[in-house]
Amino acid sequence: MSDCIFCKIIAGEIPSAKFYEDEDILIIADINPQAAKHYLMMPKKHYTDIADMAEKDPEALGNIFKKLSGLISELGLDGGFRIVSNKGENGCQSVGHLHIHVLGGEKLNEKMG
Ligand code: AMP
Ligand code: ZN
Repeated sequence: MSDCIFCKIIAGEIPSAKFYEDEDILIIADINPQAAKHYLMMPKKHYTDIADMAEKDPEALGNIFKKLSGLISELGLDGGFRIVSNKGENGCQSVGHLHIHVLGGEKLNEKMG
């Protein structure tokens, strides 16, 4: 996906603040944080959104969450966190490469949306 900003970040063509990387996933800091800790967790393989990946490789999608569970302390999320993945126009998705927002590091607003 030559015009995908997150594919470019994964390829190292655009700089990012990386917190975790392995052969399958990357976790970076969101450039416009909405909480004290705001990460973006993404598969290296390009999927347009969470439904696309759930349809094509549900096991790999599950593994992303398993990895997050193993990184909770390292990411400063022991107090808890919220995950969000926007899909499509109504979800206000602005980058068309699946990414899962992980928000925490402080008490979040009770209401979402
Ligand atoms: P969404 O609106 O759910 O598609 O989320 C896209 C997120 O990507 C937003 O929270 C942006 O702040 C974030 N973002 C966009 N460009 C970058 C970048 N170059 N590095 C880190 N985060 C980015
Ligand atoms: Zn991409």
